[in-house]
Amino acid sequence: MADVVVRERRLRWPIAADFEAAIRGQTVRGIDRRAKYILIRFDTGTLILHLGMSGSLRLVKADTPPRIHDHWDIRMDGGWILRFHDPRRFGSLHWTEADPALHPLLAKLAPEPLSRAFDGEYLHRMTRKRSVAIKHLIMNSQVVVGVGNIYASEALFRARVSPRRAARRLTRQEARALAQAIKDVLGEAIKTGGTTLRDYVNADGAQGFFRQKLFVYERAGEACRVCRSAVKQFAQGQRSTYWCSTCQR
Ligand SMILES: [Zn+2]
Repeated sequence: MADVVVRERRLRWPIAADFEAAIRGQTVRGIDRRAKYILIRFDTGTLILHLGMSGSLRLVKADTPPRIHDHWDIRMDGGWILRFHDPRRFGSLHWTEADPALHPLLAKLAPEPLSRAFDGEYLHRMTRKRSVAIKHLIMNSQVVVGVGNIYASEALFRARVSPRRAARRLTRQEARALAQAIKDVLGEAIKTGGTTLRDYVNADGAQGFFRQKLFVYERAGEACRVCRSAVKQFAQGQRSTYWCSTCQR
């Protein structure tokens, strides 16, 4: 049975006034994810959460006093509270009683990289007539969701494709290799708990260990693990790109 306490409604979008009444007394039926949205399914609807830049969810004992920036609680049976903490308030919370896939926040999202909808044929099709650099294309959430800077750099290295290459210059075979490399990199990163940057920890408070498996990311000047040439770095858009100019063409 869920009850809910909202202390601060002004998140990225204001929390709807009827939210507490809608969720009260309901049971959690399941948890899903779509892109960066966490979906918590209840009896009559779904909570759509986004952690924004600085948000976190913690399960705390029911008698834990709220700290500053603890904006809402969902009180569960068994003496636990699901508590949302977000100093910068870029996170969000929406309630929908319709199919969440049709919600305006989710309806136009591109495929998940680990789904069957994302494969070499799809990626090849999306690269046609696009002169943008391939690294930008695979980080575009209208092409595929969830490929961040670290994983884009690493996947391009594994597929041996230069991050600067115009997307339309990718062959079908390279598109296949790149789609597979994206799946491999993300799959391995998930297994090892992700790549810890700054203060990220998982639900158990543990850091990720994928950093130890990186081929190029933040290795500028160090020897390429494949050919021993120095890994290079350059600014691409607002982000740093790392690559090996010998291995990647
Ligand atoms: Zn190399």
